[in-house]
Amino acid sequence: MATSLPERNETQYYFGAGPAQLPKPVIIQLSKDIVNINNQGIGIGEISHRSKLAQDIIDNTRENLYKLLSNNGNIDIEDVKKHYDVFFLQGGGTTGFSSIPLNFKKFNQVQNKKGGYVISGSWSLKSYQEAKRLGCDVVPLYNDKEVNGEFKGSYTGDYEALLSKHDDLSYVYVCENETVNGIEYDQSLKELAKVCQQRNIELISDLSSDIFSREINIFDYGVIMAGAQKNIGIAGLTLYIVKKSILANIKASGSIDELPIAFDWNLQNDNNSCYNTIPMVPLHTLNLVFENLLSAGGISAQEKINVEKAEKLYAVLDKYSLEGDNEKKFVKLTVSKQFRSKMNVVFNLKTTDLENDFVKKAEAKGFSAIKGHRSVGGIRVSIYNAVKLEAVESLIKFIEEFAEQL
Ligand code: PMP
Repeated sequence: MATSLPERNETQYYFGAGPAQLPKPVIIQLSKDIVNINNQGIGIGEISHRSKLAQDIIDNTRENLYKLLSNNGNIDIEDVKKHYDVFFLQGGGTTGFSSIPLNFKKFNQVQNKKGGYVISGSWSLKSYQEAKRLGCDVVPLYNDKEVNGEFKGSYTGDYEALLSKHDDLSYVYVCENETVNGIEYDQSLKELAKVCQQRNIELISDLSSDIFSREINIFDYGVIMAGAQKNIGIAGLTLYIVKKSILANIKASGSIDELPIAFDWNLQNDNNSCYNTIPMVPLHTLNLVFENLLSAGGISAQEKINVEKAEKLYAVLDKYSLEGDNEKKFVKLTVSKQFRSKMNVVFNLKTTDLENDFVKKAEAKGFSAIKGHRSVGGIRVSIYNAVKLEAVESLIKFIEEFAEQL
């Protein structure tokens, strides 16, 4: 077996939807720390999660996360800490789908309330279905596929009118970026957050595929849940940011007997995320990603780059859109402009044969992992934080060359 680190070909452009590419400094530091962390003579995956070193890393990760949430000091960090707890559980997004309704179940029973789901793509649909399967009292508030025949965006009407049809909601659940369908909320989420606050409803968001890609106002949310393996790390861990008042309310109502102990938010939160063994490699990776983000100017700096990447890529796709008047039309964009994802750019080409040809030629040029999700087909270019502007520009050049050959 090898005794030194391999080289990594920087001309290889990876656009995978997750697990996804990590920033190079992170992956190099991680590799070193897997061998020997802090000169302890042992690697990060080998130490006890209860050791002083591991506890310091957990605390430091949380601290860095609070810093990121403060949006470069524009939000008072002490205020965030006062109102929100942060904990990490083994798992991914899917474990979040189960843990959210189960933690709310007893509270909802006691209060005679339910969870409302805005369904804007595959993941919010799966989350709703899981809550239902677990016997939780949940209701779909809106389903874009039922309205538009396929997922094209999310609700565009008046949220006040939508929520006023349900006076028994404890939470409204959204998936802020639908990774499979390429649908991401725009400013309308702010409107939803405002109406939720007015109606005393908690907004719960799955941010698995766009967390820290753009600034958010944490005070808009009751719960944020995110699997780590796209924008902020590697698989194995779910991040939860939960309002302290929600944890207190859930504690006061007690939990259902069937709540799996490892999913018990209050138990995990009270035990510094260490009621059971927290996977330290993913946790440490998260911290390295946070440090890298902070040292590069925080989320606002990253957001600017992300906006530029997405705008440039959509511009070339629009140029060749079947709906445009370019003589070389071959791109089909189904997501409504308002909800275009800045993380997962999803599109089809005129025919499946053309798509196959596109993928083959792209791969030959070193652009990999651009095939659409198996459930929807087509092309999906994921341009998470770690994907450089230069990679997107190279892909754009390839698209132009591909168009030339048609
Ligand atoms: N939510 C979103 C937005 C996702 O993209 C995914 C897929 N990674 C999930 C949830 C499910 O995550 P996991 O595979 O970690 O269970």
